[in-house]
Amino acid sequence: MLETRYRYQYFKRCPFCGGTDFRPKGRKGTGVAFHPQVVACPGCGLLFVNPIADAESMREYYAGYGETNPRSVEISASVREYVAAAHERMGEPTDGRFLDVGAASGEIMEAFRDLGWAVDGVELSGAFVDFARRERGLETLQQAAIGEVDYPDASFDYVRFWHVIEHLREPVKALENIYRWLKPGGVLHMGMPNPVTPLGEVITLVTGRFGLGQDHTFGFPKATTARILTSLGFELEEHRIYANRRWKKGPKDRLHNALRRIWPSSVAYWQSAYARKPTSVERS
Ligand SMILES: [Zn+2]
Repeated sequence: MLETRYRYQYFKRCPFCGGTDFRPKGRKGTGVAFHPQVVACPGCGLLFVNPIADAESMREYYAGYGETNPRSVEISASVREYVAAAHERMGEPTDGRFLDVGAASGEIMEAFRDLGWAVDGVELSGAFVDFARRERGLETLQQAAIGEVDYPDASFDYVRFWHVIEHLREPVKALENIYRWLKPGGVLHMGMPNPVTPLGEVITLVTGRFGLGQDHTFGFPKATTARILTSLGFELEEHRIYANRRWKKGPKDRLHNALRRIWPSSVAYWQSAYARKPTSVERS
């Protein structure tokens, strides 16, 4: 059953490779009425919901999304560490320019700005954008979806695109735009779920369920991510899947942490990629 207040469109072709023989992968869990059916493209490995909500329905859905009140204007030690590492990766530029797609409360933008970078950001949640502008003075943070903004070619040295792509209707187009917005030699740091784990595959085989995530539209197995990024011209610098440690102490959390120690890939639900736009683009 589909959530009927939204309108849906069916894919006739794989939105990455154009293949037409994609097949059911599994249905999302009980009670998930939004994007319930996941299909897989055997040509490129891409996973996607079919049907997908149309653009207007997605805007409606995300209008009230993420309206949590930001708590603190403090910048955490882990964010400082992340930004210092990025600064170093880029050769500690004095005129670096940073874009955060999915900037939340602007914590990372502020940490980059503290190192002398010019910063831009995109964030859907009005509560986050108000907070970032008011408390951090981040005037360049726009309340928008990535599909609604544009920047001049070769604007940025470093683009962070963290846990956004799995929610989009047109993820490949978003990556094409980011590639264009990056300066030659610029870096994209992208994070998203790793949708395929050995344990998850067994569960799907047995139950027919596939946990893509309630409002996730796309799933990118690691090899598919690599294929998409390189097809757009990126050079993959670092690409990994990983398991997070859980800090709660319930039985499932303890099992998760035990598996993480003895069989890490079984619970490696996360994926991170650093991809660089080449400094010189060879023309054929
Ligand atoms: Zn495909």
